[in-house]
Amino acid sequence: MNREEIYKELGISQQVWKFAAETEAQLKERFAALDETAEYNQMKVIKAMQEARVSDIHFAATNGYGYNDLGRDTLEEVYARAFHGESALVRTQIISGTHALHIALSGNLRPGDELLSPVGKPYDTLEEVIGIRESTGSLKEYGIAYRQVDLLSDGSFDYENIARAINSRTKLVTIQRSKGYAARPTLSVKRIGELIAFVKRCKPDVICMVDNCYGEFVERTEPTDVGADLIVGSLIKNPGGGLAPIGGYIVGRKDCVDRASYRLSAPGLGKEAGASLGVNQAFFQGLFLSPAVVAGALKGAIFAANIYERLGFAVMPDGKESRHDIIQAVTLGSKEAVIAFCQGIQAAAPVDSFAVPEPWDMPGYDAPVIMAAGAFVQGSSIELSADAPIKPPYAVYFQGGLTWYHAKLGIMKSLQKLTDEKIVKW
Ligand SMILES: *Cc1c(COP(=O)(O)O)cnc(C)c1O
Repeated sequence: MNREEIYKELGISQQVWKFAAETEAQLKERFAALDETAEYNQMKVIKAMQEARVSDIHFAATNGYGYNDLGRDTLEEVYARAFHGESALVRTQIISGTHALHIALSGNLRPGDELLSPVGKPYDTLEEVIGIRESTGSLKEYGIAYRQVDLLSDGSFDYENIARAINSRTKLVTIQRSKGYAARPTLSVKRIGELIAFVKRCKPDVICMVDNCYGEFVERTEPTDVGADLIVGSLIKNPGGGLAPIGGYIVGRKDCVDRASYRLSAPGLGKEAGASLGVNQAFFQGLFLSPAVVAGALKGAIFAANIYERLGFAVMPDGKESRHDIIQAVTLGSKEAVIAFCQGIQAAAPVDSFAVPEPWDMPGYDAPVIMAAGAFVQGSSIELSADAPIKPPYAVYFQGGLTWYHAKLGIMKSLQKLTDEKIVKW
């Protein structure tokens, strides 16, 4: 049986198959470049594992206090080496990216200090962490002030106002690499380096932290290579490689990582306690697979950008742009189209493919939201997933795919659904 026939059995029409095949054929060179980056990053991870002398003994489960958890300590050494930091905190006890960012911030800021975001409003969930939106336990309640300088309308840094915003109280500067769900470009590692250099010229002892979510292994360097004191992320995104069932990481300067660890556990305990239970092998193996998984997700994002661009939809980033994270936005222009797209993604999933996602009123959002995810790990967005608020301009954000082949099927199924609903006419 040839490929076209197996796709037919999965509900893909000849039209969609042909269009997808044509589009893919145009992307050969870009995909080859992605494979080279993945190869480079794969070597970086293997080198880190070899230097840390990873052994099967490190996969053993620990319990209780988790003192002398050799696997956990070695995993942290691997993260520190792979991301070129002095120290790392990589824990099952960090429940999400938001949690990792919270302990990095609250561990390193003290009452009277000021936090600055020079790249505009941070990710939604951080609004309550910082206290931009009133919430119990926010940094604001602890007397930590917040300042923000927006990007200029062309996406560049507003250096003049950044210099003005930095003052004697400025202790930490937070830089979000990925656009998340904002309408701004994702920052390249190079641009992050330029911003950090500027900030350090204004105030050399300020701590520069990068929210690295969705950015790991997209490029050959990470923000720690260009001056970041701390990088922070989630293990159910890129660096968990799809295998980590939970977790977050913080890598960077030892004193900064230590301060975060006293927030995660307790003053005096820090990194010394915290059992890894039975999760170490999944953490090691997930990191090992991550460069290849990220390349697959990037191929999916670029493929989708090109498919939908050819059909006349607005896509961000566009089909030709260089990539700095794994998120792809497609503006579909109507509620029906957004729903059809998400239902197509769901129908391609290995898990819960029979479920039909519908918009619902999710707490914390001002419009109904539709989400498609047939994931092995709940909420994992390195796995193929899509979501969209049901409001103009009716854009869907999608990301992930543990393999390029699955991402490809997901995008073909979304297009098939749009075809079946007669939203896309051939
Ligand atoms: C996902 C994400 C977060 C928060 O991570 P959760 O694991 O969902 O809490 C923070 N910042 C950015 C840029 C993200 O993409």
